[in-house]
Amino acid sequence: MSDCIFCKIVSGDIPSKKIFEDELCYAFYDINPQSDVHFLVIPKTHDMQAVKDINEANSNVVAHIFEVIAELTCEMNIDSYRVITNCGEGAGQTVKHLHFHVLSGDNLNENLV
Ligand code: AMP
Repeated sequence: MSDCIFCKIVSGDIPSKKIFEDELCYAFYDINPQSDVHFLVIPKTHDMQAVKDINEANSNVVAHIFEVIAELTCEMNIDSYRVITNCGEGAGQTVKHLHFHVLSGDNLNENLV
C-alpha cells in the first residue's frame, strides 16, 4: 500500500535497522524501543492490517512469523521475551499493517496478563 510506512520499510523507501528478511516477512528494530530489546516482525504484504484480518488463506504467514521469532530470539540468546500485537486504535495500534512486537528486558515484570 503506497502510503503505509511499513510497506515503505519493506521496499527500502524508508530506512530501517533490518534484522532479517525472507520471502514472507521482514524483521527490524523499533524506532522507539520500549524495552532493552524491541523489534518488529511484519508480513511483507499489506493484506492484513491487524489480527482481525487473519484467515485460513493467510494464517500460514502468521505461523511463519512465529517460527522466525523463535529462531531470531534463539540466535540473540534471548530466552525471556514478550510478543505483542495491537489490534485497533483502542488497543494502541498506530500502524495499520500487521506487526508483532518482540520485547525483552528488565521491565517485563510489569505484567498486564
Ligand atoms: P503499534 O503502536 O502497535 O501500531 O506499533 C507501531 C510501532 O511501529 C511503534 O512501536 C513505533 O515505534 C514503530 N515504528 C513507527 N515507525 C517506525 C519506523 N520508521 N521504524 C521502526 N519502527 C517504527
